[in-house]
Amino acid sequence: QGQNKYTGMIEDCCYDYEVIDSINGEVLHPLLQELVTTSFFRYFKVKLWCDCPFWPDDGMCRLRDCSVCECPENEFPETFKKPWTNGLSPDDLVCQEGKPQSTVDRTLDSRAFRDWIVADNPWTNDDETDNGEMTYVNLQLNPERFTGYTGPSARRIWDAVYSENCPRYSSGEICPEKKVLYKLISGLHTSITIHIASDYLLDETTNQWGENVEILYQRVLKYPDRVQNLYFTFLFVLRAVTKAADYLELAEYDTGNHSEDLKTQSLMKQLLYSHKLQAACPLPFDEAKLWQGQSGPQLKQQIQKQFRNISALMDCVGCEKCRLWGKLQVLGLGTALKILFSIDGHNSPVQHLQLQRNEVIALLNLLNRLSESVKYVHEKGPSVEKIFGQVTEPA
Ligand code: FAD
Repeated sequence: QGQNKYTGMIEDCCYDYEVIDSINGEVLHPLLQELVTTSFFRYFKVKLWCDCPFWPDDGMCRLRDCSVCECPENEFPETFKKPWTNGLSPDDLVCQEGKPQSTVDRTLDSRAFRDWIVADNPWTNDDETDNGEMTYVNLQLNPERFTGYTGPSARRIWDAVYSENCPRYSSGEICPEKKVLYKLISGLHTSITIHIASDYLLDETTNQWGENVEILYQRVLKYPDRVQNLYFTFLFVLRAVTKAADYLELAEYDTGNHSEDLKTQSLMKQLLYSHKLQAACPLPFDEAKLWQGQSGPQLKQQIQKQFRNISALMDCVGCEKCRLWGKLQVLGLGTALKILFSIDGHNSPVQHLQLQRNEVIALLNLLNRLSESVKYVHEKGPSVEKIFGQVTEPA
């Protein structure tokens, strides 16, 4: 085990790395892991087939009925396509997550969406009121991991996200609001890469899954700013959740299963009012510092539009499972932005805040994903850096 090189304060936040690692490991991660398995939090309502508004030629989004992890054939590793010979039927091999049990109980709608508002989120592109085209996905059966989605299609999305919507900043050149948007996207990107690295198809012939620590190093650890942005995004979303604590505490978690619903409520309370969290830092990120200049409102509109574009780009993600998690996590970020920037100041009441059920699901599932990534980097980072950090790159 090597030393963890991330120490000291996280930029723009009041936590330092050691504190957030310890609170995450002891409190947040275990609570979130349990919370996301409850009926309320494991079903996500999503429009998975959709027209990509930017590249009509892409043709990736056309598969209305394809199940969640069925990416276009050319995106998949060879073994996903071949008939299976070692005693398993092809059904056992292809996309376990895409089997009928993962496309979910639609009667949930009338029960679980009762008492929740349906309203538009100004930060996101999806029309949440458009029930007809939505399907439910059991997130537990569709984990975010390696899917084989790579190459020009994936690259095109990331390039568009960065170059059109939140250009990389160099310090001093850009206003803090734009910097926040860039860091949020980069932090999310880091988290997605960590999930790919931690659950990777290592051997296509034996269908063996496991960690790919080289990817962890080459795409994440080698770039300390990517790790820093991950921590920043985690704290930003955590701040949104704690800011909305009063609202989230009283929200309706009824799914018809009384004992499980009580458990959901109890886990939420433990998460929202964790003493350790409050003692360490009541304000993980100080949103009140933003939008203060003269052009504040204008800037907010501009950044809102940019974020909506990023949200729309998720419809162009060519692999269905990646699109599912892309949409969920961008909605989660959009919800955090809505919470932090639709209420002024730290102590303003949140009574005007209105969240949709799906927004709450996305927000907490995003927080869980980020918490997993932070834990993974914290635990694996030092030893992996020790192995790969010493290898000198050829000139
Ligand atoms: P990419 O990850 O595609 O990165 C492209 C470029 O962006 C890099 O060359 C680098 O310059 C820059 N970059 C990379 N990371 C960061 C960062 N953290 N901050 C700033 N800049 C950065 N694949 C899966 O296997 N499973 C998934 O669940 C999955 N989900 C995806 C969801 C979305 C929304 C998108 C767009 C793609 C998803 N992919 C998924 C594909 C995956 O993200 C990569 O695109 C793919 O693995 C190819 O990786 P790459 O090494 O070419 O670099």
